[in-house]
Parts: sequence; C-alpha cells; structure tokens
Amino acid sequence: MNNIFDTSIECAKKLDAEDKLSAFRDRFEIPTNDQGDEEIYFVGNSLGLMPKKSVEDVNEELSKWGKHGVKGHGAEGGEIEGPWVTFHEPLTKLMAKLVGGKVDEVTIMNTLTVNIHFLLISFYNPIKKRKKIIIEENAFPSDYFAVESQVKQRNLDPSEVIVKVPVDENGILDVETVIKTIESVGDELALVFLPGVQYYSGQVLPIEQIIKVSHKVGALVGIQLAHGVGNIELELSNWNVDFATWCTYKYLNSGPGSIAACYINEKHVNRKDIQRLHGWWGNSLETRFEMENQFDEKNTADVWQVSNPPILSMAPIKAAMDLIIEAGGMKALRKKSINMSMYFDYLIEENLYDDIQIITPQDTDSRGCQLSLKVVNSKLTGRGVFNSLLSSGVACDWRYPDVIRVAPVPMYNSYLEIYNFVEILRKIINE
Ligand SMILES: *Cc1c(COP(=O)(O)O)cnc(C)c1O
Repeated sequence: MNNIFDTSIECAKKLDAEDKLSAFRDRFEIPTNDQGDEEIYFVGNSLGLMPKKSVEDVNEELSKWGKHGVKGHGAEGGEIEGPWVTFHEPLTKLMAKLVGGKVDEVTIMNTLTVNIHFLLISFYNPIKKRKKIIIEENAFPSDYFAVESQVKQRNLDPSEVIVKVPVDENGILDVETVIKTIESVGDELALVFLPGVQYYSGQVLPIEQIIKVSHKVGALVGIQLAHGVGNIELELSNWNVDFATWCTYKYLNSGPGSIAACYINEKHVNRKDIQRLHGWWGNSLETRFEMENQFDEKNTADVWQVSNPPILSMAPIKAAMDLIIEAGGMKALRKKSINMSMYFDYLIEENLYDDIQIITPQDTDSRGCQLSLKVVNSKLTGRGVFNSLLSSGVACDWRYPDVIRVAPVPMYNSYLEIYNFVEILRKIINE
C-alpha cells in the first residue's frame, strides 16, 4: 500500500540520511537521562529545546548590563550596539515574516494569556444585540478564564454570551459545525476566538475559511496561535485575521515563559473607537522620554506595548528564529513535518492498529506536528502506558482525560526517534 515507508529500522535511517534538515539537531541541546542517553524528545509543542546559540545571546545581554549598566538601554551618553530600547525591532521583523504579517502589524510583548486579555479589551466590544463570543468547547483553561473574566468585566453573563462550538468524544471540532454556529449566531456575534491548532487534539482549523464566514456576519476574529506558530504555515495578513497571539516557548524554542507576540491587522492599529490599555512603551520613542502625560501613540502594533520588555527573555528569540530561516523557513519545516507525521501514522497502523488510535485528523491540512494518541487496547490504561513511556526515556505528555501527546518536530527530531518510539510503545503494549 505504501511504497515510501516500510517497517524496518533501515527505512528510518534512510529517511534521516535523505533529510536535508537533519544537521539542525546538532544546533540544539538534547536532554539526556541519568545514563547520559538522549531522550526521545517529543514535547517541543510544550517547551521547545534550547538552541545552543541562545546561551551566547543571553550572556551577551548580561555582559552588556554588567559593562554598561543603564546605558545598555541606549540612554543618553550611550552609543551601544543593540541598545535595549529598540531591541525588539529586528525580532519583530523576523516574527512578522514567520506569521505572514506586515512588520507594523506585529508586536512582541507580555505573555500569552496577558495578551489575550489585552486583545479582548480592544476587540471584544459587545454593542446592542451583538454581544456574543464564540469559542470552542473544552478550550484551554487559561483561554477560557480570560474570555470569561472579560465577559464579566463588561457586566455580562458568561452563560448568555459565550457560545461554545461542541467537540466530539475525541475533542475534534467538526468544521461544518463551526461554520454553522458562526452563521446561526449571525448578527448577535461580536467575536470569534478560536485556535489555529487545537492543543489537545492537534487539529488544525481552516483559519481563512473561518475568517471569511465570520466577517460575512459582521464579527471580528481572533486566532490563538500557541500551537500554530512555528508549526504550520501562516498568512495572517492575506487571511485578513483581525488579531492573533502566540507564545514563543513552544515551537519557537525561545525558552521557558519567554515573551509572547501579537498580530493586529493594520486596519485596527490606530482606530480611535477601540479601547487599549496604555503604558509608556506604546508612546512614540521620539517623545517617550519627554515625560509628558499626553499619550503620543505609535502608529504600529507596538502601540499595544505597555512596559519596557524583559531583555533576557527576548534574547533567545533571535537564535531560534535565525535557525528557522536557515532551515528554509516554515515551508521547508512543514514539508518535513508532514512526512514525519505520515511515517508515524504508517508505523502505528502497521504495528499497533488494535491498540493505539491517533485522534488527530488524518488529512495533512488538518494536522501539524502533534499527534494525540489514545490507548484503545482494553487491557491497558492510557495513563499506565504513558507512565511506561516516561520511564523508557520518552518525553511526551499526558492531557486529561485520556490523551498522550507526541510532537516530532522537524527542526530537531529524527525519523529514527519515531521508529524507536513506536518500538518502545510496542514493547510496552505487548508485555
Ligand atoms: C500554551 C498555551 C497557553 C499558555 O498560556 P501562558 O499564558 O503562556 O501561560 C494558553 N493557551 C493555550 C491554548 C496554550 O496552548
């Protein structure tokens, strides 16, 4: 049936030998166990691995701090290379390219959930009968808490205005149902807030289609890209997304809790009729230090910035983004990712058909790096299998109620790791 793959270890080795991206693995630190063996690291969807270069980049900022103190900001009297006051600018350019946005539509700031709050303040504007907000059933708790509290902030009742698109027993959204829900809420719909890639199932949603339908009924669309960025190809400007936000510590490999980013469509950037939370970093640089209490707003998405940003958290972004570009950008990464996921599918199908179900939709447009596995062998529990995987040196994660998430990422994972993973899983299940 399949003439590209077979179940031998030689096939895995051959796929690695033919892989143009295989050399990038060496540019990352790979976690090891007590015996010094490399883990099979399939949790790049949760915390991406550390590019070796990022140590140097963070150290450089520490040195700058040590050597120049406050002058590191590029403050008066400081002729510093890479001053902190404009440190985000080159990173914003790289980030804009990655998501298919214009430079002026992207800003790097805060953390993900904070940004959801900031953007809902601007873009969830219930007026008259148009008060409803569509999200997914079983949304990531933090996303739900943000939406719910923003609704309450406006003195509205969450049970009346939050409309949840139902998911099936595997957490999969039926695209037809998403579209129908948007159409049926119609002129009562203020905002659609959905993920580009769903965190539990790994399902990729048709963002462009969702936007078209939502705009047609007069609603705005915000896209949660925590699992989308660095995973699938994005064209936020062309798709006419209203806003989006994402973190940089998952597929973007920029470090635990590292600073997040937002996309704001240029048509919304300097609107006078929306609310924003302001701080001095959104004030234009020319007048920022005149210290007038008159907000002189930037004319880019940076107007949403509030505080001077955490430089040590931003420093690793550059190395991580440079690696993506060097690898050939999202196009090249996505190509390998699709092939990896087909190989994974094939091995599970051949070896573990009766034991493991991949709940992530199978067509390549509907999945990214992550595959969500469910143990269907009735003699075993999912949790038990997961625990055995962990003690066998596989880094993967468990999501309640019953899913094992694995994400072979094209940047640093190999086909051999997929092969070894399936072998380990086979042993666990057959013992
Ligand atoms: C990773 C993730 C988060 C994490 O939010 P933080 O504010 O960065 O802690 C939130 N929502 C989704 C869907 C995620 O995947």
